[in-house]
Amino acid sequence: IFGEERKNSLGMDISDSIAVSQFANDIREFSEKKWQVGPIIDGESFLDSAEFTEVVNPAHLENVIGEVSSATSAHALNALEIAHSAFTKWQNVSAEERAKCLEKAADLLEERMKELIYILIVEAGKILSDAIAEVREAIDFLRYYAMIAKNELNDWKKLSGPTGEDNFIFFEGRGVFLCISPWNFPLAIFIGQVSAALAAGNAVLAKPAEQTPIIAYEAVKILHEAGIPKNVLHLIPGDGWYLGKTLVPDNRISGVAFTGSTQTAQIINRMLASRDGPIVPLIAETGGLNAMIVDSSALLEQVTKDVLISAFRSGGQRCSALRVLFIQEDIAEKQVKMICNAAQELKIGDPIQLSTDIGPIIDKASIDMLTKHTEKISRDEDSNLLFKVPMDTNSYNGYFFPPYIYEIQKISQLKQEVFGPILHIIRFNKSQLNEVISDINNTGYGLTFSLQSRVQSQIALISKKISVGNVYINRNQIGAAVGTQPFGGRGLSGTGPKAGGPNYLQRFSIEKVVSVNT
Ligand code: GLU
Repeated sequence: IFGEERKNSLGMDISDSIAVSQFANDIREFSEKKWQVGPIIDGESFLDSAEFTEVVNPAHLENVIGEVSSATSAHALNALEIAHSAFTKWQNVSAEERAKCLEKAADLLEERMKELIYILIVEAGKILSDAIAEVREAIDFLRYYAMIAKNELNDWKKLSGPTGEDNFIFFEGRGVFLCISPWNFPLAIFIGQVSAALAAGNAVLAKPAEQTPIIAYEAVKILHEAGIPKNVLHLIPGDGWYLGKTLVPDNRISGVAFTGSTQTAQIINRMLASRDGPIVPLIAETGGLNAMIVDSSALLEQVTKDVLISAFRSGGQRCSALRVLFIQEDIAEKQVKMICNAAQELKIGDPIQLSTDIGPIIDKASIDMLTKHTEKISRDEDSNLLFKVPMDTNSYNGYFFPPYIYEIQKISQLKQEVFGPILHIIRFNKSQLNEVISDINNTGYGLTFSLQSRVQSQIALISKKISVGNVYINRNQIGAAVGTQPFGGRGLSGTGPKAGGPNYLQRFSIEKVVSVNT
């Protein structure tokens, strides 16, 4: 099950400039399109024009790309009622059949790739290469979970037991799953959660991020077209707090999959804990205060490249992104200079332009949060602004925010994840290495970590001591590949199991054992 039967989809060769510019041109065919989206309940779209709010391109605020009608609590409860009644039938559909729907959906995503990529650019502000990678990741999730469902969830497995008795174990769907997904991977994580829940035999209420309802709407349409019964999968776009309060306390919700902030996961956890009903799982994938340690044996050019990718790719709007870079004093001066010089070359701009490295930040609230952080850290006398990527604010009408690089003294100066292109650098002496590792572990987060070192014993030791979900050595620390780098953290960073890993579907399922006296 670890990959021999399956290959991840191939991305586009972005070094083929002719093919890429042709593709970039082709996707503009959607530029006149205006999407109207809303709840999808039992296959029916509820597009109430009185309730429409505009969906705006974060890179061009004058460009309204569509409208969304938000779900009311009546919509949400109606969807829950329908899903709850539909669940048992879907639970009894074989895992093989459920997997076929996912595989068909993967084919449809591949067919509709151009439109999906375009939506990711104009709705979520993704640069072209990120948008291509995201559609591919969604396809990979579908095919990977289909494979796991067929291999692991399909049959009753016979267990050993005493003579005269046959014992079997098998997995069943749990009921209705509420899947709450983020705006930073509005297709890949949306599809990942939903397809896992469906493959395991659950009915699903999918609640996309407020910022990205259009791509979610298209994804649900595709899943229905691929054969997922309309009464089994429903879309409820809208305000997270309002819909969460309506649904999470309801005992008909048999599990919640959530990707987003640690604080929101904690609220959901408390809501579930105070229910007077079944005890159900929360599968949470949250933030990180992710670190990289660079020792004096590292290759400076490689570090420079990996730091820029890890900290600033996607505008740092990945939960895996690098936030705190520890550099050994002996090489710090040179290394910092190389990083700042290379950062100077980053081009901030319209994500649809092939030359753009960093597109917009998702919304005004995020810009405000990042601005507040830079103001706070600038007031801190233990910090020092090393570099800010030049940006001519007058030439944009969007939510743009330049990468910043600060030097700070201690990771404890950061209290929580800062979700955007802000990198903090800390210098350390060789003798402080153990302290550095415990400081990183003591943040309580544990998502990604990377080490740049050519010393084998150091690699083995630090990989063991560091308490995170994903460790990367001598490479960047983002872009975990489905099935190859199962992704997810621990502590304040999430509950596991890892998305795109061999044990993910099992958490969406419940086990049953049948013992037969023969
Ligand atoms: N899986 C993504 C990565 O490895 C990050 C997911 C997230 O930001 O939630 O970069």
